[in-house]
Amino acid sequence: MAHVKLHIPGPVEVSEKTFKAFCSPMIGHRGQGFKDLYAKVQPQLQQLLSTKQLVYLSTSSAWGIMEGAIRNLVSKKVLNCMNGAFSDKWFDVSKRCGKAAEPLQVEWGRPIRAEEIDKRLATGAFDALTVIHNETSTGTMSPIAEIAALKKKYPDVMFIVDSVSSMSAVPLKFDELGIDVLLAGSQKAFALPPGLAICVVSPAALAKAAKAADRGYYFDFTEFQKNAEQSMTPSTPSIGHVYALSSKLDEFFAEGLENRYARHRKTNQMTRDWAARHGFTLFPESGAESLTLTCINNGAKAGGRAVDVPKLQKLAKDGGFLIDGGYGKIKGKTFRVSNMGDETESSMAPLFAVLDTAIAQL
Ligand SMILES: *Cc1c(COP(=O)(O)O)cnc(C)c1O
Repeated sequence: MAHVKLHIPGPVEVSEKTFKAFCSPMIGHRGQGFKDLYAKVQPQLQQLLSTKQLVYLSTSSAWGIMEGAIRNLVSKKVLNCMNGAFSDKWFDVSKRCGKAAEPLQVEWGRPIRAEEIDKRLATGAFDALTVIHNETSTGTMSPIAEIAALKKKYPDVMFIVDSVSSMSAVPLKFDELGIDVLLAGSQKAFALPPGLAICVVSPAALAKAAKAADRGYYFDFTEFQKNAEQSMTPSTPSIGHVYALSSKLDEFFAEGLENRYARHRKTNQMTRDWAARHGFTLFPESGAESLTLTCINNGAKAGGRAVDVPKLQKLAKDGGFLIDGGYGKIKGKTFRVSNMGDETESSMAPLFAVLDTAIAQL
């Protein structure tokens, strides 16, 4: 079967080179070979995230660490900032972990604003906060630096930030932001196969985790720290992922991080230009549009063009590309195109050519 190239917002296309690295011969996870491998990627990850903290590798999807953060860090009550399907889900997860939780709900497509968080935290009711930097379901980016600045005012509140679909595509300086947890999954902007989560935790969060009686084992941050100090993981990791990550990080630094960020901005602009050229508007509030994917409105009600989205997807797929038909309650009312990972203007040009032809047939 011919491969259909992925332009959905995760998993994204994985290169031959990455797969080759993934398929490196197996080694033992307690041996020197693995320690050397982890010790090699560690400073690269620290440079990527501008942190002196050890970066953890979790063999799980991102949700593992998201749930882990709740279990390690919430003792009083968590404020779940919600503006899309993933952030909405986090409220549900907090409750399922048996935690007291409160939603800060804003309309889908609107960013989370620091002022709104400030008002809630001022009540003193919370010891943790969850926020998604790049809400993938709506293609909306929240102003993370402004939100993180609140940490100074609320040092005892744990700031847990999901950057699953933005980490490595836009600069995220962990130590400078001063937040407590920053996490991502391998299948988004890293362009690795799914199954690995990457995460960094502040010293304050580690101290708090050490006191959490019911933090479990698999996602216990203190276990991750103890093991990372020895260039190991608490349990047997997906070693193939670590090889693939190592290969990918070499690519990041060969390209240069600034060039990598600029490339994502360019391919994102290219997607927005395509949408505008065909009379579509974008779903997020103006100024809050994601840089790693584009959530495009479908419908005259949104002030733009309307097409049969499943048909558009079918024509795109026949042309060799998978695009997304909208997530959750905005399925069909929107569709999404990802520019995460290895994409360049020239690698994305054929997608837009196929979409141009498809639109002409709708
Ligand atoms: C994809 C995604 C998740 C879920 O990640 P999994 O790897 O499926 O657990 C969470 N948050 C955001 C913002 C995402 O884009």
